[in-house]
Amino acid sequence: MKKTAAAKKAASAHRGASAKKAAAPAKRAASAKKAASAEKATPVKKAAAARKATSSRKATSSKKAAPAKKAASVKKAPAAKKVVVAPKKAAARVKAAPAKAVVHPPGDESRTALVRRARRINRELAEVFPYAHPELDFENPFQLVVATVLSAQTTDLRVNQTTPSLFAKYPTPEDLAAANPEEVEEILRPCGFFRAKTKSVIGLSKALVEEFGGEVPGRLEDLVKLPGVGRKTAFVVLGNAFGRPGITVDTHFQRLVRRWQWTGETDPDKIEAAVGALFPKSDWTDLSHHVIWHGRRICHARKPACGACPIAPLCPAYGEGETDPEKAKKLLKYEKGGFPGQRLKPPQAYLDAGGRPAPPLGAG
Ligand code: SF4
Repeated sequence: MKKTAAAKKAASAHRGASAKKAAAPAKRAASAKKAASAEKATPVKKAAAARKATSSRKATSSKKAAPAKKAASVKKAPAAKKVVVAPKKAAARVKAAPAKAVVHPPGDESRTALVRRARRINRELAEVFPYAHPELDFENPFQLVVATVLSAQTTDLRVNQTTPSLFAKYPTPEDLAAANPEEVEEILRPCGFFRAKTKSVIGLSKALVEEFGGEVPGRLEDLVKLPGVGRKTAFVVLGNAFGRPGITVDTHFQRLVRRWQWTGETDPDKIEAAVGALFPKSDWTDLSHHVIWHGRRICHARKPACGACPIAPLCPAYGEGETDPEKAKKLLKYEKGGFPGQRLKPPQAYLDAGGRPAPPLGAG
């Protein structure tokens, strides 16, 4: 039995070897054919084959690179973790938004809503101060321009106490242009900065005489050339002596339009442009008076009388000052017997039963 098995194994081994031997020439012939055909291939075909080979190499290499990419993507995993931080940031932003909205309710108000609110404030103030006017005393454009220059850094009341003696002695630009500076300084001393102010009023009088025939010009570009006259003074003169619309951006005006969020600008020229764009030109002069009167009597720089304010429901800064009606009432600046043309209602008239600002006058 053993012998037979060994013989079988030997026989099968012999069959395998002879089969391989037989197949070998056939394989060789086939590969020779392939080589011949490859050699016969046209250069175009060669090039195509070369391209194919290159692309296949690229594919191979990209396939080979795949694991590397995989590795890279695995390495990027921490980056994905970082992305998770974003929602946290977003959440922080979302959290911050309501706080902002609470502090400044009209921050998001549309342009149309801002225009409506601004005009409504002006209408309410026109009801409270129907005869608001420049509080400097004057009888002609010359007196107004001089009084306005003198009003810098002092009160209109102080100027009104000073100008009668000045204009009694120097009634025309010619008179003031020829004045002795020391004598003028003595008259202007109560106004403060009297030397600089003397220089300005004598200088502007000389300019009026030499360049404008002794008349105050009615154009902005001419007025601002006069010594001591800036845009603010020029607009006061244009609006009140020539009936030409102008916005007077004084200290009260700047403070109030920022409290009302009409504009965030701080430069007077930019404030003038921003606020001017909210109103028709014809409203500019009266608007300036209303705002300045409100600033002088109710919405003071340090202690605004919010609890007695007729426009509290329209004001985003409500609460910046005293909100208790009785305490706020004491902050109002009245002259004895009230200001001429002032129609301030008792503070309670602007508050509802709960002590909150009532809807404004004339509201729906
Ligand atoms: S509510 Fe207060 S801050 Fe606003 S306008 Fe009135 S006084 Fe001024």
